Amino acid sequence: MNAKRKAYDMLKKKLKNKCLTDTLSRIQYAYDATQKMYPPDIVILAEDTNDVALTIKIANKYKIPVVPRGWGSGFTGGTLNVDGGICLSLEKMDKVIELDLENMMIWVEAGMVNWDLQGYVKPYGLFFPPDPSSWKFSTIGGNIAENAGGPRAVKYGVMKDWVKGLELVLANGSVITVGSKNIKDVAGYDLVDLIVGSEGTLAIVTKALLKLHPLPEAKKTMQIVFDNMREAAVMVNKILLSGVIPVAIEFVDKFAIKTVKDATGVDLPDADAILIIEVDGNKAEVELQTQKIEQLAKDNKSVISFSIAKNAEEEEKVWFARRTISPTLKRIANDKLNEDIVIPRSKLAEMIERLEKISKKYDLSIVNFGHAGDGNIHVNIMYHTDSADETKRANRAMEEVFDECIKLGGSITGEHGVGITKQDFLEKQLGRTQVELLRRIKKAFDPNNIINPHKMRL
Ligand SMILES: Cc1cc2nc3c(=O)[nH]c(=O)nc-3n(C[C@H](O)[C@H](O)[C@H](O)COP(=O)(O)OP(=O)(O)OC[C@H]3O[C@@H](n4cnc5c(N)ncnc54)[C@H](O)[C@@H]3O)c2cc1C
Repeated sequence: MNAKRKAYDMLKKKLKNKCLTDTLSRIQYAYDATQKMYPPDIVILAEDTNDVALTIKIANKYKIPVVPRGWGSGFTGGTLNVDGGICLSLEKMDKVIELDLENMMIWVEAGMVNWDLQGYVKPYGLFFPPDPSSWKFSTIGGNIAENAGGPRAVKYGVMKDWVKGLELVLANGSVITVGSKNIKDVAGYDLVDLIVGSEGTLAIVTKALLKLHPLPEAKKTMQIVFDNMREAAVMVNKILLSGVIPVAIEFVDKFAIKTVKDATGVDLPDADAILIIEVDGNKAEVELQTQKIEQLAKDNKSVISFSIAKNAEEEEKVWFARRTISPTLKRIANDKLNEDIVIPRSKLAEMIERLEKISKKYDLSIVNFGHAGDGNIHVNIMYHTDSADETKRANRAMEEVFDECIKLGGSITGEHGVGITKQDFLEKQLGRTQVELLRRIKKAFDPNNIINPHKMRL
């Protein structure tokens, strides 16, 4: 009997109906948001840490790949079973373990969906700041693995700023807890920070200790419309230099504005760029921040209009354009290369100009929008898959986008991770010596290379 058969028989014997091996289940768990398909041989629906530890021990003994999985919303193939093996789903581990109001922290299981956590802590006057747009269908474990972030990152940061501790199952099946509730704790290397963003390649996260924040008393949403993208980018830095730290500063470029207008008929101005800004705090703070931003807008000759949402309905209208871009892109072409590059905020205008040049050079629509406040641009290179020439041009354009981004001191990924889709570019950004160091770290955690092998090409 070969190793895989022995391992799967043992898993079926010990975990019984927590194992799925039928074709339909294997196909259901073969995807993530990349829409690439790699069916696992077996799916384990773990219900507690013991199930995870047992699965890992068996996988390690027989040297079989085991890929942790949350809700499969990843954009870079991190949860795909490239080489078959075991899909270890944590979706059923979705409970709150302890809410510690005095320390404003919470222990949760890794399979808890971010949105459910928000709902759980809201009645206590608290919220969990990291807000990836996928928060209704992504797990805390997946958010940790990808160091996810969302619009609120400008003021509140990303996952790594809110994770205080982790329960981990290591490659040999042993269970450890790293981090603590202490605000200051410098004993040993910071393994919490090492695991956050490690894309499920070092250990399985089974539980997480997260910081919480009091809900703000008030917030306000503003929209500034520009006739010049460069001025919009410069305005981002002007706002921050004025002492206002907004919760979010999102931008939408002219191509995105046109796409949303054409698709929905919504009343948007003919503009080069729109900034959507949200501020929060107590009522007086919010008022002051709004006044400062309004003044900056009034002083800028490139501003076509400035508006403040007066109620929830108007707020929704402001956010509509930003939220509707992705679903309407299919009107331009049937596929896109969707990259989440990030550059130092000061280089935003320069990067947007370079993207326009690349768009002209390869004769392809490139639609840009994203989190201007943290320099994170969602670059969407649109192409028709039935045209071999267009597909080739799109791939070449993407390489050039990464090259330009790296030249400006940026990173090939600000949110979605490397996974399998950006492997070719990691060394370009980090250099060989650094990638070798990462490989040695991987080896120290996982000598048999069973946990999520083939990811980040480690
Ligand atoms: C429409 C849409 C919008 C999105 N918006 C954002 C956004 O605004 N910001 C952002 O950052 N991302 C965004 N994403 C990407 C994605 O949602 C995030 O990366 C999310 O964190 C993935 O969570 P998941 O539970 O779906 O993880 P999965 O896709 O299941 O897995 C992602 C990675 O995490 C690993 N993993 C999962 N659980 C564990 C665990 N318990 N222990 C160890 N490793 C684990 C997997 O092996 C894999 O490598 C978006 C995706 C979509 C489809």
